[in-house]
Amino acid sequence: MSLIEKAKVYLVGAGPGNPLYLTRKAERCIQKADVILYDQLVNPFILQLSKPSAEWIHVGKTPYTKYIKQERINALLVEKANECQTVVRLKGGDPAIFGRVAEEVETLKAHGIHFEIVPGVTAASAAVSQLERGLTERNVSTNITFTTGHFKNNEDNEIDITTLTHNGTLAIYMGVKRLPQLMQQIKSHIQKDFPVAVVFNASCHNQYIVTGTVTTIVDRIAQLPERLGPGITIVGDVAREIQSDTVLPLQSPDIILLQGPKDACLSLAYDLYEQGQVAYLDYQNDNTIHHTQRQKITELIQQTRIKEVIKL
Ligand code: SAH
Repeated sequence: MSLIEKAKVYLVGAGPGNPLYLTRKAERCIQKADVILYDQLVNPFILQLSKPSAEWIHVGKTPYTKYIKQERINALLVEKANECQTVVRLKGGDPAIFGRVAEEVETLKAHGIHFEIVPGVTAASAAVSQLERGLTERNVSTNITFTTGHFKNNEDNEIDITTLTHNGTLAIYMGVKRLPQLMQQIKSHIQKDFPVAVVFNASCHNQYIVTGTVTTIVDRIAQLPERLGPGITIVGDVAREIQSDTVLPLQSPDIILLQGPKDACLSLAYDLYEQGQVAYLDYQNDNTIHHTQRQKITELIQQTRIKEVIKL
C-alpha cells in the first residue's frame, strides 16, 4: 500500500459530552488517530482514549478565542492527511447535524483523500432520553424537525415551525440566545401554547432541565446564570408535564484525577462517569506523551477544582 493510500480522515461524532455515549467505532478511530482535530464541545477525557503519540489540535470556538475559520480547518485536514496520517476530525454530537460535515467532505473529495463519516448521538436524542420521552411518540408526535436558531452573520431569520402544525416535535440547536424571538414567532403563527423543555448539557454531570411553555419559557431562562453550557430546546407535546430542575449545576466540576497504568485508569474513569462524576487521566509529568496532550491536560487541571487524586 502506498503511503498516500494509508492516509484516511475520519469525521467522527463524539456524542453529547458524556464519554459513555461514544460509539465503539468512534472509540476505535480515536485510538488509531495520529492527529485529532477537535471542537470545543468535545469532552477532553474522550481525547485521552488516543495513543500517547497522537497530536491534539483544538479547532473550536471558545468564549475567549477567535473562531478558527472553516477554510483553515479544511486546509489542516488536507495537510495532515498528506503527511500520510490517520486523522480524526472530532465533533460534538453527530457530525452530520449542524456539524458542517458537507464542507469537509467536499474538500476531502476534491483532494482524493479517503474518508469516512462516523455518526454520533445527537443532542436532541440525548435531551429527550433525559426527559424520559421519545422524539416521536405514537399518537403524540409523528415527525420531527431539527433546526437552528443561529444563522450566518447573526441574521434574524425565522425558522421553519411547520412541524408544530402537524403533530410534530421541533428541536432547536443553538437557539437559547434567540429564544425570545423564536418563541414570539411560534406565538404569532400558531394559536397553541406548546410545552417547551430546554436541556442544558444533556447527559453530562452538569445537566439542567428548564421547562415551561412557549409563553413562559423565556422568563424562566432569563433568570438563569449565563454560560450554563450548550442547551437544546425541544418544543411540542413530547415535552409535556415535565418538572424543571430546582438545583443549579456547578459551574465548574469537581474532577477526579487518575494516575497509573492507562488501561486501569480508563476502566475506572468509565465507572466514575457512570456515577455522574468527571474524571481525567493525569499525565502532566509523563514525557512520553505528545506535548499537545500534556499541555491540554495541564491547562485543564489548572482551571478546575480537583476533588480527589486516585493512584492505581
Ligand atoms: N453536531 C451537534 C450539534 C452542533 S451545534 C449534535 O449533533 O448534537 C451546537 C449545539 O448543539 C449547541 O448550541 C446546543 O444547542 C446543542 N448541543 C450540543 N451538545 C449538547 C448537550 N450536551 N446538551 C444540550 N445541547 C447540546
